[in-house]
Amino acid sequence: MKVAIMGAGLSGLACAITLERNGIEPVIFEKRSRVGDRFVNAEALLSIFSRPGQDVIAKFSEEYGLYLHPTASIEQMTIHSQREKAVLKGPLGFLNIRGREEDSFEAQLSRQVKSPIRFHSEETYEQLLADYTHVVMATGDGDYAKKTHNFREDLTVSLKGATVEGRFDRYAVKVWMDYDLAPKGYGYLLPFSETEANVVIGIPDIPENRGVELEKLWEPYYQKVRTELGQELPVTDEFQITHYPMGMCNRARIGNTFYVGNCFGSLMPFLGFGQYVALLTGVFAAYDLCGLGNYEELTAPFRQSYEHSLVLRRAMEQLDNADLDRIVRVLDGPLGNKLYFAKRINPLKVASYLMRPYVKIKQGVTS
Ligand SMILES: Cc1cc2nc3c(=O)[nH]c(=O)nc-3n(C[C@H](O)[C@H](O)[C@H](O)COP(=O)(O)OP(=O)(O)OC[C@H]3O[C@@H](n4cnc5c(N)ncnc54)[C@H](O)[C@@H]3O)c2cc1C
Repeated sequence: MKVAIMGAGLSGLACAITLERNGIEPVIFEKRSRVGDRFVNAEALLSIFSRPGQDVIAKFSEEYGLYLHPTASIEQMTIHSQREKAVLKGPLGFLNIRGREEDSFEAQLSRQVKSPIRFHSEETYEQLLADYTHVVMATGDGDYAKKTHNFREDLTVSLKGATVEGRFDRYAVKVWMDYDLAPKGYGYLLPFSETEANVVIGIPDIPENRGVELEKLWEPYYQKVRTELGQELPVTDEFQITHYPMGMCNRARIGNTFYVGNCFGSLMPFLGFGQYVALLTGVFAAYDLCGLGNYEELTAPFRQSYEHSLVLRRAMEQLDNADLDRIVRVLDGPLGNKLYFAKRINPLKVASYLMRPYVKIKQGVTS
């Protein structure tokens, strides 16, 4: 068996580590000059996507042999709407760095990989398929999956972010759900450390946002964050992404090609979280290649979560600021904590059922 992995990101590297542990040495093809060679940003790994209250970092090391060092645990999340504020406290998840940093998640994983990584790769999928018995598609987007008619793109989002300096509680994150600031979108602040944080605004590229310029939204949003924190927050770095695609592949495996990470459909349309599923799809594709499981079956629960998350996203598009105020008011209290931390319910599923009345008939929403 000769396995090629296209892409040395989260899913590709998780796949390589798992294959190696089971005696298969893949070859990894990466188009960039080194692992994580892109802008630096902070990301969150929320326990709500595994099991509420569960320690996801412990789960990755104990169950899957993926050793990840986050920058901090998340102990508090403050959600601001236009007039309300909800504070969730408890073991909410973890913060980590991505991109061109020594301790980014992809850099950490690459140090656990022994297989060769061929940088500056220009190999096409077709070339890899001709030279290898199996190909793992881990390029971080649906491009190839779309080309092979194996990807249903549901939406794209555009994001603008900055690294800012200031004084931060590194265990606390902030979210803004205010459609005057980010129409049908959101903003957030994730600290890298006590002195640096990532401030990001994101909006869906839906018809009613046509003509809305992210650049123009940035200034009032940045001003709002500065006022809220009572700090100047000088910018030291910036990034912008337009039309970041979210969707789901039709089949997780076609012939001897496995679709993992964002090529599978790991990005949750509700708020754009994708790391958890990206890592696990890499692991599960490797299980299939090693005869330890069936990739389609192992990934079936992720499809369901994706559909629930899509319902939430569509519902968000039907709401206005008054609705958001009402939701945030409910979240700020025992019910919010119960929804987030309850062990026996799937909060995404419950929330998606609660939000269904808001969703006009949309394609791709399953019952
Ligand atoms: C700004 C931003 C913020 C985010 N925040 C969060 C968050 O807070 N929490 C969360 O859970 N998720 C978040 N996500 C989503 C998360 O980062 C992704 O879901 C996850 O990284 C997907 O992993 P992947 O392995 O599919 O792709 P990636 O980790 O992006 O890796 C893809 C790799 O493939 C390489 N590649 C691309 N094309 C080729 C090619 N043709 N040949 C060879 N190599 C190629 C790329 O260079 C890259 O190294 C965020 C995403 C963005 C953009």
